[in-house]
Amino acid sequence: MEILNEHINNILQQLPSNVTLVAVTKTRPVAILQQAYELGLRDFGENRVQEMIDKQSILPADINWHLIGHLQTNKVKYIAPFVYLVHSIDSLRLLEEVNRQAEKHNRIIDCLLQIYIATEESKFGLDEPELKVILESAIYKSMNNIRICGLMGMASFSDDTALVRREFAHLKSLFEEIKSAYFAGSTDFSILSMGMSGDYQIAIEEGSSLVRIGTALFGER
Ligand SMILES: *Cc1c(COP(=O)(O)O)cnc(C)c1O
Repeated sequence: MEILNEHINNILQQLPSNVTLVAVTKTRPVAILQQAYELGLRDFGENRVQEMIDKQSILPADINWHLIGHLQTNKVKYIAPFVYLVHSIDSLRLLEEVNRQAEKHNRIIDCLLQIYIATEESKFGLDEPELKVILESAIYKSMNNIRICGLMGMASFSDDTALVRREFAHLKSLFEEIKSAYFAGSTDFSILSMGMSGDYQIAIEEGSSLVRIGTALFGER
């Protein structure tokens, strides 16, 4: 608990006041989440639906649950009652399902569009044409139960810090472009989710407003 407290304080000290810390709790046992909660953290990130609902059902109700991993359409219904922010919208079909399930629960679900910025093949996300197709579609414009709050991206998993910096800078400039082209006059589009344990300092320098940190808080998985 003392070590965790030290890690939390160390990271919080490095974050500007406008940057949110999401503690990535995937694979961590509930007791660890309980400790993080007692130390004041309220934003937890999980990448698997089953794990998130198991934990949500036993932990305090005022936790903000962030779904950060790839989300399958058929699993949206399980998290729709409570999820705080879905970071990983990577298709119009998925967005439609989130809207449909949110409507059933009479709520609006906040979402980020995940953008593919890395050089690696394995990462999920939209490219820029796909992003614009979604935002210009009649289907998107007709949705009343989702709110697009910003973008999320993962940089290449690389020691090449110049590459990582370029990828984050690119996502930041895309964020600003999309904000002025599609969300002018709205305060909804305000979250840029980028930065993990290995690269959050660079992400913050390049304009991140939300970092997703696991290992640097809880140790190696
Ligand atoms: C696991 C994960 C993180 C956190 O990674 P760490 O390197 O442990 O900080 C952040 N974002 C996503 C999408 C993840 O899957």
